[in-house]
Amino acid sequence: MSEPVVYMIDPLPAHSAAPLGGFESTVHRASTAAPTLTVTDLGASRGDGVFETFGVLAGHAQAVDAHLDRLANSAALLDLPEPNLAQWRVAVAIAADALPDDRQGGIKLVLTRGVEGTGVPTAWIVATVTERDFAERQDGIRVVTLDRGYSSDVARRAPWLLAGAKTLSYAVNMAALREAARRDADDVIFVSSDGFVMEAPTSTVIMRHGDVFTTPRTDIGILPGTSQLSLFEFYRGAGFRAEEALVPAEELVHADGIWLVSSVRLAAPVIDIDGSRIAHDADMTNRMNAALMARDA
Ligand code: PLP
Repeated sequence: MSEPVVYMIDPLPAHSAAPLGGFESTVHRASTAAPTLTVTDLGASRGDGVFETFGVLAGHAQAVDAHLDRLANSAALLDLPEPNLAQWRVAVAIAADALPDDRQGGIKLVLTRGVEGTGVPTAWIVATVTERDFAERQDGIRVVTLDRGYSSDVARRAPWLLAGAKTLSYAVNMAALREAARRDADDVIFVSSDGFVMEAPTSTVIMRHGDVFTTPRTDIGILPGTSQLSLFEFYRGAGFRAEEALVPAEELVHADGIWLVSSVRLAAPVIDIDGSRIAHDADMTNRMNAALMARDA
């Protein structure tokens, strides 16, 4: 297994100019053997912070603008200081460059509220080679639907629940994946308490009906997906329709295809939902994955 590469960042205020040594001088390679995080950091003790995971292909981070926009949006939802996106862009490029050209990888960028009492955010990046073999892109995955416990108006009704922000608090998402494993499935599609398709614990859901590709509307309290955004460009360019909608969960089993999509996984076709078989068009999956790998490369 290759060692992750870690960089600690001195976060600068939003829009501030680069320091004399350039933004590069604020990005410090850290040894994985040395302590890098204080135990009273609110990211560690309360999950109080945000993150982004970028896919990296051939040493190049994918969809950087979309990820940085989402980082800024998540930070705003948590009342964290606005991130300096020019600085993060440089840090992401440095971290992506540290990964080998011939392997797929990922970069995880983290911004926390910082050590308790200081008011200074903590920021770091971990770049990792992805060890998975991605067989699921060919073989498909079996999913179960699970109740997310939120109604589809949660983001409007209870914004303090931070639905739609990419926070560090992923314990619920990980617990849902363990529940899927207990039910002999590979992944989960969350359903709102009023019966609408939401998202997977670490991926966006895309469905196909004929020539129309649909993803759940993000105003129901789910994360706007960067992979979904790239795929919608691909569908439209290929002559299909692509739209956001409120999708009743009962419609899932009638889809002509369903995929879970995210930045490192890319597109994994769903072949079974709660024991019902779902049609799988391997050629379309291959085209989607080729589009995701080619994006802004
Ligand atoms: N939804 C959730 C909850 C996620 O955690 C992720 C990715 O981590 C996604 C959707 C997919 O987002 P992206 O395509 O930007 O990776």
